[in-house]
Formats: sequence, C-alpha cells, structure tokens
Amino acid sequence: MPGKRIAVIGAGVSGLGAIKVCLEEGLEPTHFEGSDDIGGVWRYEEKAKTDRPSIYKSVISNSSKEMTAYSDYPSPDHFPNYLPNSKIMEYLRMYVQHFGLMKHIHFLSKVCSVRKRSNFSCTGQWDVVVEAEGKQKCYVFDGVMVCSGLCTDPFLPLHNFPAFRFVAESLGLEFLVLKTGRTLEKIKIPETENKPWLEHERPSKEVSVTLLAIYSAMLEEQNVTV
Ligand SMILES: Cc1cc2nc3c(=O)[nH]c(=O)nc-3n(C[C@H](O)[C@H](O)[C@H](O)COP(=O)(O)OP(=O)(O)OC[C@H]3O[C@@H](n4cnc5c(N)ncnc54)[C@H](O)[C@@H]3O)c2cc1C
Repeated sequence: MPGKRIAVIGAGVSGLGAIKVCLEEGLEPTHFEGSDDIGGVWRYEEKAKTDRPSIYKSVISNSSKEMTAYSDYPSPDHFPNYLPNSKIMEYLRMYVQHFGLMKHIHFLSKVCSVRKRSNFSCTGQWDVVVEAEGKQKCYVFDGVMVCSGLCTDPFLPLHNFPAFRFVAESLGLEFLVLKTGRTLEKIKIPETENKPWLEHERPSKEVSVTLLAIYSAMLEEQNVTV
C-alpha cells in the first residue's frame, strides 16, 4: 500500500527534521521551500529578502550544540560548543546529505494556501496551492506539516512605537535598542561618534516603559513635545 502523501512546508530546522521522519515512517513527503536554499532563519544573507526569515551576521546560538542538535545526528566533536550561524548551516547541510533529503525539496516553491478538500470529512485530504516559476498549481495531500517558522513575515507594529522613533531621532541616536532578551545581547552595534544606544540589562516591560519615560522627560526639559 503506498504511503500517505504529506506536504512539508519550509526547509528550516523543523522542516528538515519533519521530512526525515516522514521518510522513516514510510510516508511520501513533498517538501516546498519558498527560497532557493535550506536553513530558514539560520541562513544569513547580506541583503535581507522579503518572504524569508533572516538573522543578523553575528548571531551565535545561545543553546549548546548538544541541546540544539537533532537527537539522532550529533554535531561534530570539533565544532565549538555554541555554534555561529555559519556552523549551524554547515551542520544542516551535513544532515541533509546524510539522510538524502535534498531530492525531496522543491525550492522556489511558495505555498500560497492550505485548505480542507470539499470531501475532507471522508478523505481527510487537503488542497495545497503552490506557486513556482510564476504559476500556481494545486496539489492534493493526505497530510500537511507546517514548518514555515515564526520569523518569515516581519511584524513591525511601528505605528505602536512612534515615540521610540521620535526619541531616537530627536536625540540624534543612530540606534535605540531596548535590550529585552538574550537575542539582543548578541547584536554587535558598530561604533559611531554618537553614543548610539540606550542599554539596559534585560528590562521588563515596565522598565522599558520607565526608560522611555526618562527619555521623554529629557525631551520635555529641552521643550520638545512628543
Ligand atoms: C536571532 C535568533 C536567534 C536564535 N537563536 C536560537 C538559539 O540559539 N537556539 C535555538 O535553538 N533557536 C534559536 N532561534 C530560534 C530559531 O527560530 C530556531 O532555532 C529554528 O531555526 C526555527 O526553525 P523553523 O524551521 O521552525 O523556522 P525557520 O528557520 O524560520 O524556517 C522556515 C522556512 O519556511 C520557509 N517558508 C515560510 N513560509 C513558506 C511558504 N509559504 N512556502 C514555502 N516555504 C515557506 C522559509 O523560507 C524558511 O526557510 C533563534 C532565532 C532567531 C531569530
């Protein structure tokens, strides 16, 4: 009996693991990746592209290589404990090659929609519309694994933060970074003549608001209204 046909969406860390497990379970996966390569968020590119996640150049994982690795494919011994993004990419490429995953991945194939088929209640099948080379095609699958990540579409509610922007611009700051977690600790901000950022160790939301209030007060002193 042929295995069930599974659509896997996204060739980042999750998608690669998903397709490997599908193959092990005798399922028939078809893997769609919107960009032209694997790696998802870990693949750094000099120019950020729309429709794909991206990290900044200096990102080093803050989870150890043992914690970060797939359970059945450890990181090489000679890799550092905390992997820079280039090493994570190297590791993922080794994983793909080791388990022969590449031939299942369709690159530059963006999934536009996933919908239950009209006969879903008896077949459990899905209509998956994929766009490749400017054309859309509808495929039928028995199952769908959505591994499209959290960081593909930017969420920039800048309209909620006009004051931050105003504060930064008014003070002539090139960057205004409110450090809110470990990730921001990893950003290397270039030295400039300006004191470029406002730094505070892991402030809570309340602390961030307080910092903003302090800056607003500073502006008020200078008779600037926000
Ligand atoms: C700055 C930063 C630091 C991090 N540090 C760590 C760390 O130290 N340790 C750790 O474990 N995790 C860390 N993470 C979390 C990281 O997100 C995960 O490690 C992991 O990469 C998530 O993989 P993913 O496959 O779920 O998603 P992604 O890596 O986002 O991959 C999603 C893929 O889906 C594709 N895609 C999206 N939509 C579609 C579509 N419609 N059709 C086709 N393809 C599509 C994208 O092109 C992409 O290739 C960090 C994340 C960031 C942003």
